[in-house]
Amino acid sequence: MSNMNKAVVIGAGIAGLITARMLSDYYKEVYIVERDELSTTPANRQGTPQSFHPHRVLPRGHMILERYFPGYTNDLLDHGAHPSDAEEMMLVNQFGTLVVRPPSGSASSSRALLEWVLRRRVQNIHHVHFLTNTEVTGLMSSKDQQTIIGVYTKERNQNKQEGMLTADMVIDAAGRTSKVIKWLNLLGHTVPDQEVLKVSLGYSTQYYKIPPQAEKHWKSVISDAHPAKGIGTGTLMRIEDNIAGTLLFSAGGEHYPSTKPNEYKEELKNLGTSKIFEIVGNLEPFQGPRGYRTSESIRQHFEQIENWPSGLLVLGDSFCTFDPIYGQGMTVAAMEAETIANCLEEQRSNPQPYFERHVLHRMQETIEPAWWLSSTADLRWKGVEYIGATPLKGVTFAQKYIDLFTKKATELATNGDSRFYLMQFLMNSLVLPPSKFFNEKILTMILNDNGSPEEKQLRTELGVQDPQLFQQRIEEIIPSFDAAFDERLKDVLMAFEQ
Ligand SMILES: Cc1cc2nc3c(=O)[nH]c(=O)nc-3n(C[C@H](O)[C@H](O)[C@H](O)COP(=O)(O)OP(=O)(O)OC[C@H]3O[C@@H](n4cnc5c(N)ncnc54)[C@H](O)[C@@H]3O)c2cc1C
Repeated sequence: MSNMNKAVVIGAGIAGLITARMLSDYYKEVYIVERDELSTTPANRQGTPQSFHPHRVLPRGHMILERYFPGYTNDLLDHGAHPSDAEEMMLVNQFGTLVVRPPSGSASSSRALLEWVLRRRVQNIHHVHFLTNTEVTGLMSSKDQQTIIGVYTKERNQNKQEGMLTADMVIDAAGRTSKVIKWLNLLGHTVPDQEVLKVSLGYSTQYYKIPPQAEKHWKSVISDAHPAKGIGTGTLMRIEDNIAGTLLFSAGGEHYPSTKPNEYKEELKNLGTSKIFEIVGNLEPFQGPRGYRTSESIRQHFEQIENWPSGLLVLGDSFCTFDPIYGQGMTVAAMEAETIANCLEEQRSNPQPYFERHVLHRMQETIEPAWWLSSTADLRWKGVEYIGATPLKGVTFAQKYIDLFTKKATELATNGDSRFYLMQFLMNSLVLPPSKFFNEKILTMILNDNGSPEEKQLRTELGVQDPQLFQQRIEEIIPSFDAAFDERLKDVLMAFEQ
């Protein structure tokens, strides 16, 4: 524990909880201010409307959660969550269907249960204090406005009592409805242009009870979207207590998944597979369908504010939002919290003069692969548009490369070799750096002159024939993301070095 005194975290969502846990290693007191009342049992709540929808933790996020909350998976299992490797999962894409057994060691649950498990751990840390039913209404700054010295608060009960909480560090983890931009404006800062993915996405989720007699027909299913054909994503997964959820997703704004039970059922038939429709025929509808729509994913560029105040950081959805279908949001929040921890460690031995701005730069490096991968995938949908200071690098090439790779990996996996399929899964899970996936060796493996449309398209995008030039060309086209991957992933990466 260092001599830093007090930190305040705004918001007790997933990002806020991981951050408070991480800060408890560095600060003598950590306050977490949450506008909702937090229940003593797992429950959805007003401040996190997304929690109705299925939330999965990617392997990178799982690794970080196990670091900060050792054994949290066992807590989930003790409260009815479903072990990830308990049964086979069917994966469907435009090139084929695979049945795999997911890796062991994780559990699937509702977001409410996950949040409750993490919250109970944080509540048990003696120097972390929760102020609930209390809204942060503004940032307190020094007279010269160069330093944030705390937050203004207002209770949400009848008294509406206003208060102040001083702090050496304030971290905004207030999610999509964060007011941090308004507060920065009040301090005289002009917030730089954001990167925006105009995604116009729609979700619709329904839950079912799995009766005992339906167990024999049960399988988890992920049916990938095929945007060129207007086919959306569909998933069927268990959460806790023998409850399963189906999720329909599409982007581009031309069609939004229905929230009307009969139409929803029909739409389950029209996915890449009818398997989900068949399985839910044996289940008992329980809750939903309920929808969620958003027009944009937004990535802030606070690191570009030259006189960014000291004592203030931002993370989670208030820093960058992602298309939820790729399951990245909580994992990226965990990666950002870990980045802050790394910077706090480095600050001890090698102090940086503009610490907070330096951290924001490092967090951008952390975010980069997730933002690029999900944007590249979403830009396959007609109607999705990227708006940024410079075009997103390598999108068309990456889409063609991924298509050909997926085709090859699916073929191999159908014949019993799932190594390449696993490789793609680990990249999308933010464990494997994209450079291990986009390189000359893999390219040579997937280009085998079979004259397929996918291969022809990729060769056109590549623009060179000589294999000697492949690596150089790939490095010109695809951004380098290696700063987002650290020592801790060494063991996983070594498996792919041979
Ligand atoms: C439909 C949908 C599905 C998703 N599925 C997944 C998934 O499968 N996997 C995944 O990793 N991510 C998923 N996400 C993203 C995920 O929900 C978030 O990225 C993640 O929870 C991190 O959010 P956060 O903690 O930053 O914000 P939130 O979880 O939104 O929490 C913000 C908290 O701040 C509080 N708050 C806000 N303003 C104030 C204030 N002024 N004062 C005090 N408190 C305040 C709110 O009440 C809330 O508790 C999904 C998102 C959506 C919309």
